[in-house]
Amino acid sequence: MALRFVIIGGGPAGHTAATHAARLGAEVTVIERDIVGGAAHLWDCIPSKAMIATGGAMALTKRAEGMGLASMQATLDFEALRDRNAAIEGRLNRSICELLESQSVRIIRGTGRLDGPNTVVADSADGTERIEADAILVSTGSRPRIPEWAEVDGDRILTTRHAYPPKELPSHLVIVGSGVTGVEFVHMFSSFGSKVTLIVSRQQVLPAKDAEVAAALEENFLDRGVVLMKGARAIGIDRDDDGVVVRCDDGRQVAGSHALLAIGAIPNSESVGLEAAGVELDRGGYVPINHHCQSNVPHIYAAGDVSGKLPLSSVAAMQGRKIAEHVMGLHTRDHRHLDYDKAASAIFTEPEIADVGLAEADAFAEGRKIRVTKVPFSASAKALIEGDPRGFVKILSDPNTGVVLGGSIVGRNAAELISVLALAVTAGLKVTDIVESLLVHPSLAEALADAAE
Ligand SMILES: Cc1cc2nc3c(=O)[nH]c(=O)nc-3n(C[C@H](O)[C@H](O)[C@H](O)COP(=O)(O)OP(=O)(O)OC[C@H]3O[C@@H](n4cnc5c(N)ncnc54)[C@H](O)[C@@H]3O)c2cc1C
Repeated sequence: MALRFVIIGGGPAGHTAATHAARLGAEVTVIERDIVGGAAHLWDCIPSKAMIATGGAMALTKRAEGMGLASMQATLDFEALRDRNAAIEGRLNRSICELLESQSVRIIRGTGRLDGPNTVVADSADGTERIEADAILVSTGSRPRIPEWAEVDGDRILTTRHAYPPKELPSHLVIVGSGVTGVEFVHMFSSFGSKVTLIVSRQQVLPAKDAEVAAALEENFLDRGVVLMKGARAIGIDRDDDGVVVRCDDGRQVAGSHALLAIGAIPNSESVGLEAAGVELDRGGYVPINHHCQSNVPHIYAAGDVSGKLPLSSVAAMQGRKIAEHVMGLHTRDHRHLDYDKAASAIFTEPEIADVGLAEADAFAEGRKIRVTKVPFSASAKALIEGDPRGFVKILSDPNTGVVLGGSIVGRNAAELISVLALAVTAGLKVTDIVESLLVHPSLAEALADAAE
């Protein structure tokens, strides 16, 4: 009899685990209450990047004159934007469902929960079904954190889930939270023409990032007229018919037409029957996992945001893939553990920001000797041709061996270009491997070879 593998939550972790396990011979069931593709497709990665792409197209029209064109005027059409998001999500959902069905994965559209360590209960429009499982994956994701001092109404006080797009273009959007999500929404709405104020609890946006990288982004925000309220922590939001007032702990307050909360996420781990099945949760409600993504109950796995590791779609999908291998016993052969420190990530702002591997600040904090080389895109022929020479490439390598340890890219197409450094970091390549690659000319990638020199 095939191994029975039941997955609760069909986001990147769940559907990737499902396809791989089915391909390897498991009998797989996925239970999903919203859409297969998960919050990643419905609310997070995909609609946010689709809206940012529209903002990017608007920005391009503003740069038209600098590109030798007569001036162009773009007008935002919120209905068209909403339809475009729905069309992209629909297309992606269909292709994932087709892939799962082609692998004979059973999809139950309903809510799943554990009832003991080997039984999953699915509640759907067809009724309640009990499914016995040899292995279970909990990949239920997370949702925006809403503090007790804010009453989200989806009208003027929003989370990211109300913003694709909101009912109307905010004339003045106050964004609380200056991490990755906060700065992407600053970029999105200021590209659309909204006035934006960003409440920054520390002295720098993106507090976890390299100071030089954060400074490049702040400069762009200030150039666009974004107001940065630094060193302020929001403690309350009042609203009336016309707008909102966000109050901060230092007495400052800012009035706007809308407020958007981007202050992190909480795991979807309650109501899943985890404790009753013997699965331990940490104080934040996440499921602690080992390097095979097993919870303390060995045949119950957790992946994606609910596992409390890096909250990235790419990481969730890779966890799903590794879990499929482990469930099917393939980890005993040719298996590489997932190394979270080598995950590439990007921030889709202007300029775009991407990094991978060791960060310069961490190397200094550890007293580790590294070689840091950096070139600006202003020296790149392609960047000048594209009319956008902002930003730089920075590569960190081992001074003795030349092995690439990490890097940051700020500038056009950074999210694509970082793939070269991600491959180098994962495969343990040396800076000379990059320098000696015969790259396309003119291309932005040439800056990587120059930085590696
Ligand atoms: C605004 C925003 C933008 C982002 N952009 C990016 C990006 O550009 N790149 C990137 O890599 N990451 C991005 N992320 C992070 C990324 O979205 C998450 O890390 C990723 O979605 C996590 O995948 P997951 O598999 O854990 O689950 P999710 O995508 O959260 O999916 C979980 C699924 O489980 C379902 N579910 C939950 N409970 C149950 C239940 N009891 N029964 C049945 N189904 C259930 C939910 O309906 C959901 O569909 C972004 C996040 C946000 C908030």
